[in-house]
Amino acid sequence: MALPKRRHSRARVGNRRCRYRARTLALANCPQCGATVLAHNACRKCGYYQQEKVDHTVKEEQKT
Ligand SMILES: [Zn+2]
Repeated sequence: MALPKRRHSRARVGNRRCRYRARTLALANCPQCGATVLAHNACRKCGYYQQEKVDHTVKEEQKT
């Protein structure tokens, strides 16, 4: 089994782990139904993405 030749310095480990932190979710409002959705994702409530129905498993939104 391969083993590392040298131990990593604390700085190197810290630099790698700095990418593990939790980040705030990129949120946006759906222009179709107004629900809060993840940016660059189809709306989970109405199934629209960029004014286009992409998720046909979602039922038609009720008209308000
Ligand atoms: Zn929507």
